[in-house]
Amino acid sequence: MTPEQFRQAGYAVVDWIADYWASLAQRPVTSQGPPGAVAAGLPAGPPAGGEPVEAVLADLDKLVAPGLTHWQHPGFFGYFPANTSGPSVLGDLVSAGLGVQGMLWSTGPACTELETVMLDWLAEAMDLPARFRSAGRGGGVIQDSASSATLVATLVAVHRAAGGRWREVGVDRRYRVYTSTEAHSSVEKAARIAGLGAEGVRLVEVDPQSRAMSPVALRAAIEADRAAGVVPALVVATVGTTSTTAIDPLPQIGPICAEHGVFLHVDAAYAGAAAVCPELRFGHAGLEYADSYCFDPHKWLLTGFDCDAFWVADSTELVEALTVLPEYLRNAASESGAVIDYRDWQVPLGRRFRALKLWFVLRWYGVEGLREHIRSGVALAARFADRVRADERFELVTPHPYGLVCFRLRGADGPNEQLLSAVNGSGRVYLTHTRVAGRYTLRLAVGAPQTAEAHVDEAWELLSRVAETVG
Ligand code: PLP
Repeated sequence: MTPEQFRQAGYAVVDWIADYWASLAQRPVTSQGPPGAVAAGLPAGPPAGGEPVEAVLADLDKLVAPGLTHWQHPGFFGYFPANTSGPSVLGDLVSAGLGVQGMLWSTGPACTELETVMLDWLAEAMDLPARFRSAGRGGGVIQDSASSATLVATLVAVHRAAGGRWREVGVDRRYRVYTSTEAHSSVEKAARIAGLGAEGVRLVEVDPQSRAMSPVALRAAIEADRAAGVVPALVVATVGTTSTTAIDPLPQIGPICAEHGVFLHVDAAYAGAAAVCPELRFGHAGLEYADSYCFDPHKWLLTGFDCDAFWVADSTELVEALTVLPEYLRNAASESGAVIDYRDWQVPLGRRFRALKLWFVLRWYGVEGLREHIRSGVALAARFADRVRADERFELVTPHPYGLVCFRLRGADGPNEQLLSAVNGSGRVYLTHTRVAGRYTLRLAVGAPQTAEAHVDEAWELLSRVAETVG
């Protein structure tokens, strides 16, 4: 494809995406086809000769789009949002066009330096503690996901718990990771990958009402382990748990970690984005105790997957834990000690120029534009919660500090399951569920860029109407 052919095909692809976004509200939120329908529509093998982009776009319409779950649909209320936006797509397009590898500063100086500055910009926009800024020992890096951030934090924490010997001796003692029973499954996965074994994670009980980690139980678990010869390595606290957006109490958890020399990682994958709004920073109280922190701009901050922002208070121990230096990567800039080589801050070697999409997003919307998006999600969730509260057939299950509302029909689980299945079957909205203290609970997470009052009201009217027919 010549640059001129690319220009023509590229315009057509951008037009296709713009038309897709403009038509979202008219589409069913989820695919209506059975398993295998998309694969059955594709030829058995690749074409022998090349085809024009127009043919591919026609098949996108015919084969791919009907097989999609439309995460940007204004009626998408499932899981947590996975935002994208025009500036994010354009930043990603430039990144793809440049094809730069940012593993070392020397393989992509601008890739590295723009990333450092973007993470400092984000830290400023969210008023994160000074210890995470690149001016001192700390700094930020983009990981592909919050799961990877947790894995990296786990590896550094074990390295620290081993007195800096982990990179030589591996896991030579029984180390423990503590997280709440409500924490994301990525904590358990990280501990398993780190080689801590099935006993590597201790799930700390939560307060039955708030669903937040109990500091009393955490302290007891750490002390019991120490007495038994197990080395407490890491606490993963969550700001905005996946099920219900519960907030673990960092002001109490932080001092326990400090007292016992345990690494504290704070996972705010979804809810962290809210901190661009000064009035929504309550979840970050006590964050100054954290050794590392992450949130996903790719969830609620108008930045397409993949973009997890991960900060550490001490990048030296992170690099010490992860660096491996083969001859073919040696270069004068790295040896000068004056540059960051982000390959040492992550598991893979190679890395894309992901800071570009953050740069495009931050410059297009400005901090005020991002605040508007977050505030709209929080207000729409409150609007929906008001409807639930006012209807005695329903109950709110947990508080809704951000954009997620957890609710259910009073009584047994069965009607709630039927309700979810029926409203999702309508194709107009998509919600998911969880269990809170064993009870089947519906989750409505607001945050898709096009969602407005009318869509939340439609979701409520549908739920209210269908509720009459279940049970
Ligand atoms: N941590 C929390 C609290 C989450 O809610 C999620 C996903 O919803 C994750 C981690 C995993 O995020 P990622 O897909 O970026 O790994």
